[in-house]
This record gives sequence, structure tokens and C-alpha cells, in this order.
Amino acid sequence: MVDPTRTESRSAAYRQRVVAELGQKALEIDDIDQLMHDASVVVAETLDVDYCKVLELLPSGEEVLLRQGIGWHEGVVGSATAPTDRDSQAGYTLLTEDPVIVDDLRTEGRFSGPELLTSHDVVSGMSVLIGSVEAPWGVLGAHSTERREFTEDDAAFVQNVANILAAAIEAEQTHRRLERTLDLFEKTERTADVGGWAIDTETMELFWTDHLFDILGIADDEEPPLEEALDVYHEADRPIVRDAVENAIDTGESFDVEVRFRTPSGEIRWLHALGTPVIEDGEIVSIRGAAQDVTERKERERELEQYQALTEAANDVIVTIDERSVVRTINPAVTDVFGYDQGELEGESLTELMPDEFAERHHRAVERYLETGERTLDWEYVELPGEHADGSEIPLAISFSETEFEGERFLTGVVRDITERKRYERELEASHDRLEQFASAVSHDLKEPLTTITSYLQLLDRRYRDDLDEEAREFIDVSVNSVTRMRRMLDGIVSEYARVDSRGATFEPVDLNSVLDDALIDLGRKIDESDAEITSESLPRVEGDPGQLHQLLLNLLDNAIKYSGESTPRIDVSAASDGQMWVISVRDEGIGIDPGATETVFEVFQRLHDDGAYPGSGIGLALCRRVVERHGGEIWVESEPGEGSTFSFTLPMTRTRDA
Ligand code: ADP
Repeated sequence: MVDPTRTESRSAAYRQRVVAELGQKALEIDDIDQLMHDASVVVAETLDVDYCKVLELLPSGEEVLLRQGIGWHEGVVGSATAPTDRDSQAGYTLLTEDPVIVDDLRTEGRFSGPELLTSHDVVSGMSVLIGSVEAPWGVLGAHSTERREFTEDDAAFVQNVANILAAAIEAEQTHRRLERTLDLFEKTERTADVGGWAIDTETMELFWTDHLFDILGIADDEEPPLEEALDVYHEADRPIVRDAVENAIDTGESFDVEVRFRTPSGEIRWLHALGTPVIEDGEIVSIRGAAQDVTERKERERELEQYQALTEAANDVIVTIDERSVVRTINPAVTDVFGYDQGELEGESLTELMPDEFAERHHRAVERYLETGERTLDWEYVELPGEHADGSEIPLAISFSETEFEGERFLTGVVRDITERKRYERELEASHDRLEQFASAVSHDLKEPLTTITSYLQLLDRRYRDDLDEEAREFIDVSVNSVTRMRRMLDGIVSEYARVDSRGATFEPVDLNSVLDDALIDLGRKIDESDAEITSESLPRVEGDPGQLHQLLLNLLDNAIKYSGESTPRIDVSAASDGQMWVISVRDEGIGIDPGATETVFEVFQRLHDDGAYPGSGIGLALCRRVVERHGGEIWVESEPGEGSTFSFTLPMTRTRDA
């Protein structure tokens, strides 16, 4: 700014120009303190005074702060304060719309000069309000150390400058509030995970908030043209979006749609979009809306729908009960199985579906579970009787699972009517018994003629051996051997094989180490004769039938010794686990088994070797398989002819009853 001469600076045109320049500056700079400082300089220069100051009314309302100014002692600007009581110049000015002119502070009667002014030897001055009496921001003042009489023009000039400051301060406050609002909006948008958008209906321009870009997974920060924006959506859903927006623009109707969109990586997700027209002066000026990614909710809804469809269609009863055993939901299968209507049981106790003595037990078990967390039933699978609406008992297989929903615990049970299965099991048992009886009768009846044949063959051999030629004698030997083998087979069928299931003992904990020891004692003579070397590692405890497990190990070891070939039998018994099952293996270094025969050896009467070389009935391994299967396991052999065989079987690991 040019240094004005006194006369020039008093000219109205000059002052107008100064005010205009300051006004322009106010629009350009965003540092409000800089503007206050510049205003102070302009006022001091134009009025040719020693001091100019901008006082800010502090929030307490009791003091003003020397926010900016020039001419003052060092360190005063930014820290000095003055009181605002009525007899201070600042306090007086804050209550006055018109400029306050002071010809001589020393004789001033309306108020006293504050310390700030007296300590700077101020004599004359003038102060004006920044803002309004209703909403004052502060005071702009000009002061001189020599006595001056300020004119109305001077006062009007200072007031103009103060008005520029007031406008700039208000603009800055608005700007800051807007920034805060925007910041809050963005935070809210993120917290609520909602994106915003708008379409200017005049220019058809699209606006997306940053968070909407994030939701859509688009990194670009420039919105596409309206038509291209449709490409974001799934092909099938584009018409929905287009129609909704067009309709909103045409008719002013709001919309609420759920549509699929495709992220840049190709993932298909769900968007819930709302739109509302903004009407100004009766015209739709824009459509504004919000959008939220609802993929997770959609997925849950779909799962729920599938679950519902599944339960509707299921033959099993699917029931959800709360902690008090009250039925919360039950599917239509309840009608078929229990004879109740679906709605009839909801809200009733689950014990409606149980015979009385089980209802008692159920209550106790639930109570106990809620108190101690201890489960008295196997929740995964339990067979219990249920009660039909007509009072009859129904055999049921039930499995439970526990879920928590909004802090409440539920047990969902899947209940299957096993009447059919039970009947089938009974039939199977009966047919089994009949088969066993038949086998026993057949073997018994066959044994009698066999005994006769054997006796007569022996008689023939004893009496006429010497009269017979070599060939005839051989015929007799073959016949005797065959009959002996046949008898062994018949014995095997009846005594062991046919009885595995029906004559088996109930399961109990069995230590396989002692089972092995017993088997080795039984095989004592064979071990001694063959010089067999049998090693074993520590074996586990299992649940089973001790007699049958004994038979199992005995057969496998017996075979391992028998089929050792020329060399001394070397056998190893080992155990491993896969976390659920024990795998017990009996390995030998004998003659091995042809790869094509590893299945057939487990079938009844299947033998790979002729009776002369290796006597046997062909029942041993078939029996082993039945025993293992009865225990819930499997048996198999791995072998290489000439190298040896490893027979392995699995047995379930004993489960420590889970809580
Ligand atoms: P067998 O009474 O004949 O031993 P098994 O059912 O025990 O009847 O065995 C069936 C057949 O499997 C046997 O005849 C034999 O050929 C073969 N086999 C069984 N164990 C072994 C083994 N450890 N090594 C080689 N072959 C074997």
C-alpha cells in the first residue's frame, strides 16, 4: 500500500479504495489473524495514529484479549487483556452501536482508560464494535499519544474496516463449522457404514461420498457419468436401479431397493440403496440418497430361508427349545411323527413329547446342565422313547446341538422316528437267529454222517490197507484229510463265525497288552516249535469284547507264524492312532499275499494255499473281520509276496465321556 500523505489519506476516495482493497484481501486469505494485522496497519496508516488494536471478547464475557494490533510494546499483542465492565472503554464500546470517540482519555467521563492504554500514554482515540450489540465479537480501536479530534469520517472509516473483519470472522466461523460438520458426517458415515450419493437433476451429474467409493470398492475418486455408473450393478439388477432413479426424477417418488453390484475384483455383493428427491420451489433439483453394503445380512437371510425350506421339507422333527425346555420352533414333521399340529406345541414344554418317566429325567438333566454344565446324556446321539399324541410310545433317535442367540441359549434337537429301523433291526436279529440255528442244525446233521464216513474210512484203512495197492491207499488218505478239513470247517462255522454277533459279550474296557499276553500263552507250543520271535510295543486300552479281541489277535499271530515260509517267524505288533481310532498292526516277514487276493482272504473259506502245505479252515480271517466290524473298526492287509504281510485293524479310541 502506498504511503499516503496526510491530505490524501483523508480523502474519501482514498479511504474507499483502502476499504475495498481490504475487503478483497478478506476474500483471498484464509488466515484471519493476518487479516486482523493488515487491518490494523491500514487503520494506523490511514488515520496516522500510533496504535491500532483488535480486541476479542473472550468466552467468559468479562475480558477482551488484544488479539492483533500494531504500535504496542513487544509481547503485548496476543496476551494483554482488558476488562469489559461498563466503565472500561472496551465494555462501553461493546454496548454501543455507534463509534466511541475519545478526545482526551485523561478527562473522559464515560469510562476510565484501562491499563493497556494508560501505560502506552494514549491520549485520544476511537473504538468501534466488531459484530453487533446482540452478538458482539470484539472491538477495533485506534489511539494516539497526541491529542486529536477524530471526525465522523474517521469513525465511519474505522467502522467499515470493523465490518470487513466481522464479515471475515463470521465467514471463517461458518467455514470451520462446515468443516466440523463434514468431518462428523464422514465419521458418522463410516461408523454407520453408509455411503451417500446425489444426482443433480439439472446437469445429471453424479456425486458419491468417499465412503460410497469404499463400499463399492472403487479406488478412483471421480464419479463416472450417470449412465456408466449403472455398470457397477449386476446386469440383472441394472433395470431396477435405472427405473427407480428415473421414476424419482419424473414423479418425485422415493425409492428403496436391494440390488447386487460387482466389485472391481469381480465379487458380487448386495447394496441397499435409498433415494429421496430434493424439492426446491416446487421443482425437483436433485435426488439424494444413502447406500449400505448388506451382503452379510443377505447371506444370513438366504441361509435362514434355506434352513426354513429344509426344515419344512424334513422328515425328521427339528425342534428348538430354550433353557426352560419351552419349544420355540418346531417343523411340520411333528404332525407325522407325534400327531400334533405344528402351532400346538410352540410355547409348550418339550416334555409333552416324552413319556412321563423321561419327562422327569429330562428336567433333572437340564437343571443339572444349567447348574454345572455337566451333560448326563450323549448329546450327539441318543436313542430314547417319545410319546405320540395318542399316548403310544415311539422309538426315537435324537441329536442335539447348542446355540446362542442374542445372549440366550437354545438346543436344537433333530428327532428321528426310528420305528422302521427298530422293526428292521428286530427282523434282522430274528433272521440272524434263524440263520444261526440253521447253520448249527446243518453242521450238527452233517457231522453225524461225516463221523460215519471217517470211521468207515479208518476201518477200511486198518483192515484192508495191506491188500490195497499204493494208489488206493493214497485215495483213502486224501479222503480222510478232506473229511477232517470239512469237520474243522463245520466246527468253525458253528462255534465261532456264526456267533460273533449274537454270542458276543457286552463291551468293557480291555487292555490289549494282557490280551496279547494271553494269546502268546495259547500259542506257546507253536512259538517254541517254530522258534518264532515276537516283539511288541505298548498297546492301548479299548472298549470291547475281551474274548473276541483275544480270538482276533490269536488268529493273526497264528497266521503270521503259520505263513512264515522257510525262515524263522519274525513278528511285530504295534499300535498307532489318528486321533479317533487306534490302528493295531501285526507284521510278519513270511510268504506274503498275492496283490489280487488281499480282499478275498477275509472271505469265509477262502484259502490261498493247499491244505497239505498249510492246514486251515479258511475261517480265521473272516472271523477277524466280523470281530473288528462288530467293534466299529476295519481290517485290511498290506503285503508283498515273499517279503511279508502286515495285517492292520482299527478300533475306536475310548472317549472320555465329554461334558
Ligand atoms: P486259514 O485257516 O487258511 O489260515 P484264514 O482265514 O486265517 O484261514 O486265512 C485265509 C488265507 O489267507 C490263508 O489260507 C492264507 O492263504 C492267507 N493268509 C492269512 N494270513 C497270512 C499271512 N500272515 N501271510 C500270508 N498269507 C496269509
